[in-house]
Amino acid sequence: MTDAGDAHRAVQHADDELYERLRAYEGRPAATGGVGKDLVNEAMIRHWCEAMGDTNPAYAGPGAIAPPTMLQAWTMGGLSGHTDRSGAYDELSDLLDGAGYTSVVATDCEQEYLRPLRPGDRITFDAVVETVSARKTTRLGTGYFVTTRMDVRAQGEPAGTHRFRILKYRPAKAGRRGSARPRPVVNRDNAGFWEGVAAHRLLIQRCGACATPRFPWLPGCNACGSPEWDTVEASGEGTVFSYVVMHHPPFPAFGESGEGGPYAVALIELAEGVRMVSNVIGLPYDKVRVGLPVRLEFLRTDSGSQLPVFRAGEG
Ligand code: ZN
Repeated sequence: MTDAGDAHRAVQHADDELYERLRAYEGRPAATGGVGKDLVNEAMIRHWCEAMGDTNPAYAGPGAIAPPTMLQAWTMGGLSGHTDRSGAYDELSDLLDGAGYTSVVATDCEQEYLRPLRPGDRITFDAVVETVSARKTTRLGTGYFVTTRMDVRAQGEPAGTHRFRILKYRPAKAGRRGSARPRPVVNRDNAGFWEGVAAHRLLIQRCGACATPRFPWLPGCNACGSPEWDTVEASGEGTVFSYVVMHHPPFPAFGESGEGGPYAVALIELAEGVRMVSNVIGLPYDKVRVGLPVRLEFLRTDSGSQLPVFRAGEG
C-alpha cells in the first residue's frame, strides 16, 4: 500500500463524511415564519413595471395583479434584513467554509406561480434547504450545489414557490480557471432557442396572439400576455445597437486570441426588430461602433457548445 494511496483514501473518506453531514441539512428550515415587509402594493408594482419597461395593462388600474415574476420582491428583507432566518442555513454554509468551499456563486432560480397576487395581499413565507448535491467539479472549481425552496403564501394560502440554487466551491487553481467559455444555462424557457443554435438556426419567439417578436425567450408575451407562441428564424442581419468594452476582470476565453480582454460586448439589433447581447468578431474591440452592420455566425467553443456571434461587415 503506497503513501499516495493512503492519502487518496483519506481524502475520499473525508469527502464522503462531509457529504453525509451536508445531506443531513436536507429538509431543514432555512427561514421560518417569514413575513413580507410590505403588503403587495401598487407603488412597488408600478416601479417594477417602469424598471422592466413592462406596460402590460394587467398590472395597472382597477383589478390589477402584480407581475408574477415579482414573487421574490415581496419576500426580500431589504437592507435591514429579516430576523427570521434559521440557524440551519448558516450552519450549512459554515460547514462548507470550514472544509475549504469558501466561494459562492448563485447559479439559477426557478419560480412557480400558484395564484395571482393583488394589492393588499399579505405575504408570509417559509424556506427549506431542499437538496444538497453530491460533490461536483465545474469550471469555477469543485463544490456542492445547495438548493433552497421558499414557499410563498398570501393570507396563508399557497401563492408560489421560489427555488434558489447556489454553488459553494473551492476555487480552481489560477491558470486553469476560465480557459473555456462558460456553457450557456439551458432551462425550460430557453431550451428551444439553444436547440436552434445547435442546428445553426437563430430562433426568435413570435406571439401567437399579437405576432410581436420577442427575445430573449420568455413563457409569455410582454405586449399582450398571451402564452401562445411559435418561432421565426432570424435572417442573421443586424446592427450594433449599443456596446460596452470589458476590461476587468480578464477572462482568458474572451478577447482577441484568447488573452482575456479587453473585449466588446454588443447589443445587436436584429433585422426582425429584437435585440440580443453577443460578441462582435472580426474587428478589434476599439473599432466597434453603434450602427455597425453585422452578420450572424456560429462559434464552436472549447466546451463543444455553439454560440451565436456577429461578424462585422466588410468595410
Ligand atoms: Zn402578444
